[in-house]
Amino acid sequence: MRIAIPHLGNLYIALEALFQRLDVEYLAPPPITQRTLSLAVKHSPEGLCIPFKLTLGNLIEVAEMGADTLVMPGGYGTCRLGYYARIQEQILRDMGYNIEMVQMGVSEQKLIGLLNIIKRLANDAPWAKILAAFRFGIKKLNALDRIERTVQKVRAVEAEKGTTNRLYASAIEAIKEADSTHTLKKVEAEYTLLLGQVPRNPGANPLIVGVTGEFYVLLEPFSNLDIESELGKLGVEVRRTTFTSEWTKFTMFLNPLGVDEKERIHRAASPYLKRDIGGDGWESVGEKVLHSSEYDGLIHLAPFTCMPEIVAQNIMPKTKENIPVLTIICDEQITKTGMLTRLEAFVDLLERKRRNRDNSIIKAGV
Ligand code: SF4
Repeated sequence: MRIAIPHLGNLYIALEALFQRLDVEYLAPPPITQRTLSLAVKHSPEGLCIPFKLTLGNLIEVAEMGADTLVMPGGYGTCRLGYYARIQEQILRDMGYNIEMVQMGVSEQKLIGLLNIIKRLANDAPWAKILAAFRFGIKKLNALDRIERTVQKVRAVEAEKGTTNRLYASAIEAIKEADSTHTLKKVEAEYTLLLGQVPRNPGANPLIVGVTGEFYVLLEPFSNLDIESELGKLGVEVRRTTFTSEWTKFTMFLNPLGVDEKERIHRAASPYLKRDIGGDGWESVGEKVLHSSEYDGLIHLAPFTCMPEIVAQNIMPKTKENIPVLTIICDEQITKTGMLTRLEAFVDLLERKRRNRDNSIIKAGV
């Protein structure tokens, strides 16, 4: 059995750690490239969203490498994700791949459901072994996300553009290689220190920009053309509340105990949107309302044809909590040049707004 799961940012590193410890052959799909996208577009129904297409592209590439058991997240929520696994399975079979598709409804089955799937994939390995491997995977996920949070801050103020990204790339490699909790802790501490020592631009006064929107396009840099890194180059500190480790912590462990981390955000959205509309649309509206006083602006990432985010996009201009919002539609047509032009104009606007605000404070003081 050769198992594969589509990419979602750095998740493959945690999966690699998990399956290695269970002696299961896991194949990480090749990094997403233009080829992945071309294959995906060629074999996908046109109107489906970019998460469907890129995950299909991953599955095709990894099936070419010999993977025969493909795991695809799904769910019975109100968005189309719930039936993606079945369509992708059919497409892969029509292409001649003899694969088994395992659908993972994590949101419904929570931790127990996930552990049962892992047990099945791991040839009925003992629970103690499964739990130890799972814990180690989670530790890697947490370390990766903590480093990423630091990177978001440091990128915005670095003296020489690119320094933080280079360190981040080697931190990812080192975390990937870490084969024990002790080494993992050491690596994380070492890179946190190195990131703290990145020479700062003395004149840096970063704008704070939130990035919100649909889960996949927030977490898979290829799908958003690495927008966070581009914002960092423009001297912007990115704030994002969605992280794979946080999602795992709540969905797997805390939600079943009754802790609802989204309650606050749903309450914030409720004057404008009172119910779940599928995907992450409700949260996108709530993020704007909740953080309007902390952020200079908000970037809203919405996959093309994603109904929940279309609804959110249309509600956002009508909230009384008024910060500038730039919606970026993510699909196969998005280009780096087009996106950069829009980001530069947005950052210009935010800087002008901040200057005007500072000037009026000074005048009021005089
Ligand atoms: S939330 Fe939107 S983009 Fe995400 S899987 Fe559902 S339809 Fe696609």
